[in-house]
Amino acid sequence: MQDILNDIVKAMNASTDRGQVADYIPQLAAIDPNQFGITVALPDGQVFSAGCAQKPFSIQSISKVFSLTLALGKIGDAVWAKVGREPSGDPFNSIVQLEHEHGKPRNPFINAGAIAIVDAIMMGHEPKELLAEILSFVRYIANDNSISIDEKVAQSELATGHRNSSLAHFMASFGNIEHDVDCVLGAYYHQCSIAMSCEQLAQAGLFLVSEGTNKSTGSRVVSSARARRINSLMLMCGHYDGSGEFAYRVGLPGKSGVGGGILAIAPNKASIAVWSPGLDKIGNSKLGTQALEMLVERTGWSIF
Ligand code: GLN
Repeated sequence: MQDILNDIVKAMNASTDRGQVADYIPQLAAIDPNQFGITVALPDGQVFSAGCAQKPFSIQSISKVFSLTLALGKIGDAVWAKVGREPSGDPFNSIVQLEHEHGKPRNPFINAGAIAIVDAIMMGHEPKELLAEILSFVRYIANDNSISIDEKVAQSELATGHRNSSLAHFMASFGNIEHDVDCVLGAYYHQCSIAMSCEQLAQAGLFLVSEGTNKSTGSRVVSSARARRINSLMLMCGHYDGSGEFAYRVGLPGKSGVGGGILAIAPNKASIAVWSPGLDKIGNSKLGTQALEMLVERTGWSIF
């Protein structure tokens, strides 16, 4: 495994076409695109890393997997009254579908869906309380109490988040946001601004590898049925309108973020985190996808 990861890092470091960093969030626009990291965490506790795998980056939309998990734990199937379970086929920040579908986002991983999920789990709490809950859940599943929120990224999103504000207000007009819109958005931006390294992220994904239990720590996080369903949502919706392409090239449940990270789950085999800040046109990590493609070719881990 270490040889495979070393080969991947070598190939990625030699790449000249690294995509574009997300520039609509000023704090992310300043990130050096010449970075690449990868970690493979196995259920038996072994961890293999190469490249910048210990450097924290903004996990952005990957956080939506964790908030969905939390929401399912708190309100169960009532989640599906707020958001659907279908791929959107539209960009992550699109507003068009929302009008046709009366303010109910297609799935929990597009921005509108994730904002609705934050609203669902706020349950009358202050945004700070909710954030503390999300952060402590992420620390628990990653088994790492040093994970924190990058306040500068959160402020940068807040200052420029006109699109997300529009999505949230639009949903509120249909009655699908119950709390104060600014409070919901504040919590959403902070959730997206959690900073994690590939090593921390791969650890956090381990519960999805082994039917809801992190076998390396022995903690059960969700039931096996729930883990299976979260994986299916990641496969169908985790890369927005690039989900079909990711399934075709990589063939694993995965979730991307505009910080350039991807969490991919090889069921019963491994939790994989990659990071390279340059994105393709859809907003998914360009080299991160290539690296996962190389990894599944070498390991045969595709679910297909
Ligand atoms: N925080 C980002 C946003 O709201 C998340 C988008 C993403 O990672 N795709 O736009």
